[in-house]
Amino acid sequence: MSKRQGRQSYGKRNSSSSHSRRRLHIPHRSRHVPDSEWRHTYPGPVPPQWQDIAAAKGFSIVGRVRDRSHVVLRCRECGADTVQKAYVLRTAQPICGGCLETRRLQDAAKCGFTLLERDEMHHKYGHYRLPCGHAARLQFGRVERLAREGKAAGRAGFHCPTCYAARLSSDAAARGWTLLGPDPDANPNYRSYRHDSCGHTQRIAIANIITGRAGCEQCGTCWSAAPSEIYVLAFEVPHKGSFIKLGYSRDPESRLRYQLGIPGSVEASFLYRFPMRTGHIAQKTEKALHGKLKQRFPDWVVPASELSGWVNVVSEIYRPRILTEIQRLLKTEIERNRSSGPSGKSE
Ligand SMILES: [Zn+2]
Ligand SMILES: [Zn+2]
Ligand SMILES: [Zn+2]
Repeated sequence: MSKRQGRQSYGKRNSSSSHSRRRLHIPHRSRHVPDSEWRHTYPGPVPPQWQDIAAAKGFSIVGRVRDRSHVVLRCRECGADTVQKAYVLRTAQPICGGCLETRRLQDAAKCGFTLLERDEMHHKYGHYRLPCGHAARLQFGRVERLAREGKAAGRAGFHCPTCYAARLSSDAAARGWTLLGPDPDANPNYRSYRHDSCGHTQRIAIANIITGRAGCEQCGTCWSAAPSEIYVLAFEVPHKGSFIKLGYSRDPESRLRYQLGIPGSVEASFLYRFPMRTGHIAQKTEKALHGKLKQRFPDWVVPASELSGWVNVVSEIYRPRILTEIQRLLKTEIERNRSSGPSGKSE
């Protein structure tokens, strides 16, 4: 209960109480102390030598609070008030709570994040809203580094944890595996997966899931050699319109919502499904199609930002008017694959 009360939101800095009294920044080590104690003025003058030390460190002492050992420092830089122990003032460079908060808000903005509130359980962490709309708990120092190095979400060096997990799940699902969790050997490039067709669990490199090179240690099936399908999916997003998704999957039907992360409020149905002899051929065919569509009809490719938050996989989505072109190209590609099959065996 008291934790909630002490929770400080960065969005509402000038609440009604600030009209009657100034905001007081409390260092994290003292945040367990009830607010009323800081509002209690300690009677007694401020020793002139304390004032000299404060001035040399960029502050002026505007009062004594709580007990004989605490002072209120006003920052010369930003005018904010911060409580400190007189001992800290004498022996160290006190940190202005106002300047610190401003720096954190600016760092967040540089990354494209919004700092929502600091984490009351750990003073080094804050809660942020990311550009994709998800919230994440991040270390202030990490955001500071991201701001300095100019790496915003979506660029190399930062993944939204929620979006990234969804992406990994959907990559796995496309190849017949279910993402279970982190690698038991703690290698960041590996994850634990379950093979959908036989139930076997094993660790696999993320890169091998993406390229379909992962083979099952139990049943020996490799996704790239198992049959697959190319599908054309139509879906309707409320207030946004109709869209077309072209993709491939071993089992499009059962994977539809899970793989694409399409919520129940979105109407979705398959327009076409083309069986492919192997996952490898399906992948190759799909890639070739996307390449041609992007090159010939760039205006009909839906930008990722348009659907973020609605579906997990926001690439390879097109406007409905591209449908006849997809049909035409698909037919050509499939015929080309049939005639150039690896052997003369019948289908
Ligand atoms: Zn300041
Ligand atoms: Zn996200
Ligand atoms: Zn298996």
